[in-house]
Amino acid sequence: MKVLLLGGTGEGRALAHLLANSSHEATLSLAGATRDPAKMPIATRTGGFGGAEPFADWLRQHGIQAIIDATHPFAARISARSAAVARDMGVPYLQVLRPAWQPGPGDDWHRIAAEEEAAQLIPEKAKVFLATGRQTLQRFANLQGRMLICRQIDPPDGPFPFPNGRFLVGRPPFPVDQERVLFRDLGIDWLVVKNAGGAASRTKLDAAAQLGLPVAMIDRPKPPDCAKGVTPEEAMAWLSSL
Ligand code: NAP
Repeated sequence: MKVLLLGGTGEGRALAHLLANSSHEATLSLAGATRDPAKMPIATRTGGFGGAEPFADWLRQHGIQAIIDATHPFAARISARSAAVARDMGVPYLQVLRPAWQPGPGDDWHRIAAEEEAAQLIPEKAKVFLATGRQTLQRFANLQGRMLICRQIDPPDGPFPFPNGRFLVGRPPFPVDQERVLFRDLGIDWLVVKNAGGAASRTKLDAAAQLGLPVAMIDRPKPPDCAKGVTPEEAMAWLSSL
């Protein structure tokens, strides 16, 4: 079966390996957000498709028979658009969506619906760790008077957009002990985190709980109405069922 895998996550990488060892003919699509992505064992294309129409054309030209969306739970635009196009074309579509994190004992989470709401929670002079990536950094413009540290995978290609902050370069995985030492050494007072889910990136939340740090937790955007799987293995079983 000719499969398009929309990637950009750990699940996407795992699926690329599972598909490479299957009878399916799969192409991985990456947005191109990470400068030096890990090499993948299946055909890979990089960059946006240019909108709904060019995406539909691409699917037709490549004879795509099924789409697995393993993009990030916060990559709402690519998921909504791709699911809608697939529905219109009658192409089976499954989203791999890890469960959202739930607070447990020791967690001091404050749910917010959008980045801009962090300013209502975080007091002036606080030192804030933005674990939210550089793409949404502009949305924290109203956090004046706080010291911001934004972690990103690639070295910055420009200055920090506000005078009250700086970038910190770091490539996952981030073990919990390392996170705890980092937050303590930086003197962090608050974390801002997207509720991405998944075990690998929960370590920052476990470290925050151990240090008694409050977390502004951004709720997920609404996912498209489509078939869902939690694990890469479930996505492979769905493909076999088609
Ligand atoms: P987005 O806002 O949902 O999508 C914006 C545009 O980027 C899409 O309309 C599409 O452009 C292009 N795009 C996104 N993912 C693509 C893919 N896998 N292949 C081809 N084009 C893609 O996405 P985003 O939040 O910027 O995320 C971009 C990528 O980073 C995704 O692959 C996502 O899985 C990954 N990522 C995102 C986050 C996050 O917090 N948002 C975190 C970790 C990883 P066209 O309209 O031109 O097709």
